[in-house]
Amino acid sequence: GLPQMPVRPVAERRVSRRIQVGPVAVGGGAPVSVQSMTTTRTSDIGATLQQIAELTASGCQIVRVACPTQDDADALATIARKSQIPVIADIHFQPKYVFAAIDAGCAAVRVNPGNIKKFDDQVKQIARAACDAGTPIRIGVNAGSLDRRLLEKHGKATAEALVESALWEASLFEEHGFRDLKISVKHNDPVVMINAYRQLAAACDYPLHLGVTEAGPEFQGTIKSAVAFGALLSEGIGDTIRVSLSAPPAQEVKVGIQILESLGLRQRSLEIVSCPSCGRAQVDVYKLADEVTAGLQGMEVPLRVAVMGCVVNGPGEAREADLGVASGNGKGQIFVKGEVVRTVPESKIVETLIDEATRIAEQMEKDGVAS
Ligand code: SF4
Repeated sequence: GLPQMPVRPVAERRVSRRIQVGPVAVGGGAPVSVQSMTTTRTSDIGATLQQIAELTASGCQIVRVACPTQDDADALATIARKSQIPVIADIHFQPKYVFAAIDAGCAAVRVNPGNIKKFDDQVKQIARAACDAGTPIRIGVNAGSLDRRLLEKHGKATAEALVESALWEASLFEEHGFRDLKISVKHNDPVVMINAYRQLAAACDYPLHLGVTEAGPEFQGTIKSAVAFGALLSEGIGDTIRVSLSAPPAQEVKVGIQILESLGLRQRSLEIVSCPSCGRAQVDVYKLADEVTAGLQGMEVPLRVAVMGCVVNGPGEAREADLGVASGNGKGQIFVKGEVVRTVPESKIVETLIDEATRIAEQMEKDGVAS
């Protein structure tokens, strides 16, 4: 397997209850998991399973599928059985689909109680069915679909309104002895979202699912999510994350994994430390960094590779990495663990780095430990 490198978590994690989403533990000190949501019609079982396979390959740990129609509900059992990762059914309006999802063997069900009419009356039956099946429930409060009563009380979807809605809905389940819950309070504004999660974290011990809803197109959404999740995770808040992008879901997973790796909440696989380039650069750093990144894609060891544009700061940085290059005079000095092992012409830099990386990776796997 993978050599283990100790992670250096950014903060003590908030103490939360633990739930099991299939084989994936959420909360109670379990590693923060990355999830995403399919974009296919759930009733199209083949296409949905195909996308789930792609998400699994990209590192997604939990997948959510929408369930707006009876045809979608009918597809859940096959999808839940054939998916490689736990499947959560996402239910908005109809409690009958909540029961269908539990019966179908989904690993969890997400409900948006602000959207389910007469939800109060149905909670008892949902709690009983979920309890019997051992199916946890996410209470997913969304700014865009907040309970009308709370919207009127607070004037708009404030952090307080989102938290009040979530806690009220949790209390309905608690009345029936059901506590197998996780909670999200999503908003498209990271500031409101951060405040909402902070309040929620202080007010309960349920595991929390982080999300900035409707975060936007890829670039903006990536930044919003990174900033909001970064703020919360660095305070120890958050047990599972979903980055929402108007982009293919595998991209959401990639961003989610990078956020966790950046905070030391997950072991890095490959990390490219490349310089921003400056007037001293003697090589096209952007191109070189891209080529090295592409060449090392899929390498599954915790390798830190430095790509530096010149020999001024280059060697110093390259020395901190497992492997690195500092360019100058049409050549590249290749460093391994701080020692110059070779000097190669510029045209050979990429292939030499890939060779060396492969060699180091093999050695790491043999040793079973990282440097
Ligand atoms: Fe500039 Fe060299 Fe530093 Fe890159 S490594 S930013 S080229 S000084």
